[in-house]
Amino acid sequence: GNADIECDTVVLGAGPGGYTAAFRAADLGQKVVLIERYADLGGVCLNVGCIPSKALLHAAKVITEAEEMAHFGVKMSAPEIDIDALRGWKESIIKKLTGGLTGLSKARKVQVVSGKGEFSSANTIVVQTAEGPKVVAFKNAIIAAGSSVAKIPGFPYDDPRLIDSTGALQLSQIPKTLLVIGGGIIGLEMACVYDALGSKVTVVEFADGLIPAADRDLVKPLQKRIEKRYAAIYLKTKVTKLEALPEGLRATFEGADGNTTAPTEPQLFDMVLVAVGRRPNGKEFAAEKAGVIVNDRGYIPADKQQRTNVAHIFAIGDVCGEPMLAHKATNEAKVAAEVIGGHKVAFDAMTIPSVAYTDPEIAWMGLTELEAKAKGIPYEKANFPWAASGRALAMGRDDGMTKLLWDPKTKRIIGAGIVGVNAGELLAETVLAMEMGADLEDLALTIHAHPTLSETPMFAAEMGLGTITDLF
Ligand code: FAD
Repeated sequence: GNADIECDTVVLGAGPGGYTAAFRAADLGQKVVLIERYADLGGVCLNVGCIPSKALLHAAKVITEAEEMAHFGVKMSAPEIDIDALRGWKESIIKKLTGGLTGLSKARKVQVVSGKGEFSSANTIVVQTAEGPKVVAFKNAIIAAGSSVAKIPGFPYDDPRLIDSTGALQLSQIPKTLLVIGGGIIGLEMACVYDALGSKVTVVEFADGLIPAADRDLVKPLQKRIEKRYAAIYLKTKVTKLEALPEGLRATFEGADGNTTAPTEPQLFDMVLVAVGRRPNGKEFAAEKAGVIVNDRGYIPADKQQRTNVAHIFAIGDVCGEPMLAHKATNEAKVAAEVIGGHKVAFDAMTIPSVAYTDPEIAWMGLTELEAKAKGIPYEKANFPWAASGRALAMGRDDGMTKLLWDPKTKRIIGAGIVGVNAGELLAETVLAMEMGADLEDLALTIHAHPTLSETPMFAAEMGLGTITDLF
C-alpha cells in the first residue's frame, strides 16, 4: 500500500503502558512500532510523574528527618539547599531511566517513531515526524496515549508563578509562600517537597477531607502532622479567582457546601500550584477515524482483554480509565500484548493498590471502609497502632497505623490500609495476601522479622484472631 512503515502492532504513546506493551509484543515475536511525540520515552511517569516526584520526596524526607533528630538530642545545622544541584540529580535519574528504555527498544528491534500520531483509518496512523508525515500501517494497535493535567478556566496560566505538577517538578525556584490548590495525592506530595525545602505551604481542597478516596482514619496522622508544619489547610473551600499582581498571585476563596470558615480576605502567594486532577488524552488523535469510541470524558472504554469496540485496537493505561496509576498501565499493557500474541489472558487483578508518598505515607488496597459502608459489604477489622511497634518507636515515628479488613465468615483478607513511614512498601504483603486468598491465620502465623514495621500486618491479624489483646 502507500504506507511508509508496516508493522504487526503499533503502540501509540511511550509511557509505562506503551513501552511495556511494545516490549512484550516484541518479545512475543511481533514487528512493533512505538510512536511517541516527545524525544524521551517514558511518558508522564518517568519524565514528569512518579519518578521525579519520588526523587524530590526522598530529598524532602532526609531534610525533615535531619530536622527532627533534635528530638533525640542530635542537632543538625540547617540544610544548605543547592537547588540547581538538586534539580540536576533528579534529571540524572530520569536520564538513566529514559536512556535505558531507548536501549531496551533497540535490543528488541522495536522501531521508535518520533512525532505526534493520529489515526487516518482503522489500519493506519499518520505521524508528524521531523522529516514530514509518515504513514504507519498496522494489523493491531494499542492506544497508550495517557493523560494531561486538568486546568481551572480563567486562571492566569501565562504567568510563570502559576504552575502544575510538571512545573512544580521543574524546581525553578523555592517560593517563600506556596498555595496548593487540590488536596489529593499529587498536590500533597508536592506540598511535602516544598515544605521541606522551606516554603510556607497553604493547601486548599474543595472536598471535606484530604485524599478523599482514602479512609479517614488513615488520613488523620498526615493531616495532624501537616497542620503543624504548614501555614494553613482549608477544606470545603475553593479558589474562585486568581489574579496576577506584580507582588504575587492573589487568591480569592469561597466556602463550598455550607462552609463559613473559608478565608474572607484574598491572600497573596509567591507561587500557586494547581493539582485538581488529570484528563485522559482520548480526544487528541482522531480515534473516530479508526471507528474507536471515545466517551464524553475522553476515555476510551476497553474490555477485560483491553479491546476497544474495534476488535484489533486495544487501549491501556490512563487513557482507558481509572485509577490513573503506572502499575495499572503496565499490567494492562501485558494483557493487551499477550492477547494480540494469541494468549488466553484477561485483566483480572483483585485489587490495584494506591499509595500517597507523603510524609507519613498513606497506602491502601482492596476494600476501604468508606466503600464497604457505601455498598453495604459486611467486614470486620483490626487497627494496629504503631505506638505499640518497637521499631516505629525506635524510629521516632509512631504516628502510624496498620488496618486489616476481613470477611467475617471466611476470615480472608479483603482490604488493608496503612499510614506511616514506608506504608507504600509495607502494603505489598497485604496485596499478595489478598491475591492468594490468605486469611488472618496465614498472616498471623507467618514469622515476621523483629523488630520491623513489616510485623504490623501480622499484629493486626493477631488482634483480629484475638491472640493479641493487650498492646503493651
Ligand atoms: P502516560 O505516562 O501519560 O504516557 C502517554 C504517552 O503518550 C506520553 O509520553 C505522550 O507524550 C504520548 N502521546 C499521547 N498522545 C500522543 C500522540 N497523539 N502521538 C504521540 N504520542 C502521544 N502513578 C503511580 O502509579 N505512582 C506514582 O507515584 C505516581 N506519581 C505521579 C506523580 C505525578 C506528578 C503525576 C502527574 C502522575 C503520577 N502518577 C503516578 C500517574 C502515572 O504517571 C500515570 O498513571 C502513568 O504515567 C500512566 O501511564 P500511561 O502509559 O497510561 O500514560
